[in-house]
Amino acid sequence: MAIIKEAIKQLFSRPATLKYPFERVAPPKGFRGRPVWDMRRCVGCGLCSKVCPSGAIEMIGKGMEAEIKHYVDRCMFCGQCAESCPRNAITMTGEFELANYSREKMVYEYKREI
Ligand code: SF4
Ligand code: SF4
Repeated sequence: MAIIKEAIKQLFSRPATLKYPFERVAPPKGFRGRPVWDMRRCVGCGLCSKVCPSGAIEMIGKGMEAEIKHYVDRCMFCGQCAESCPRNAITMTGEFELANYSREKMVYEYKREI
């Protein structure tokens, strides 16, 4: 009897989950999603690439000529790159829906605008 009572109660109560992807929750404060680079701030020191524990950052060139490639499929969103950047050029965003069938599409390239 108790189980029937519980089933009827659940039929009229609010669902415990959301209908993702039609309903979404905003990531909480401090959430570490995809890091993004601001090349106006970057001086091409290469520190982000050196500290990245998963080898997700490739530096192409050095200094003000440097370009950066971020392999998001290798990234573990630890935030070490953003913590270490002396120029605060890296921001950990709330972006987390990053899955893709193509590995090429999981590479983000950052170039300096001239
Ligand atoms: S650590 Fe910062 S300034 Fe240095 S290369 Fe990386 S993003 Fe640029
Ligand atoms: S968040 Fe961590 S794993 Fe991802 S690029 Fe930065 S240092 Fe590397």
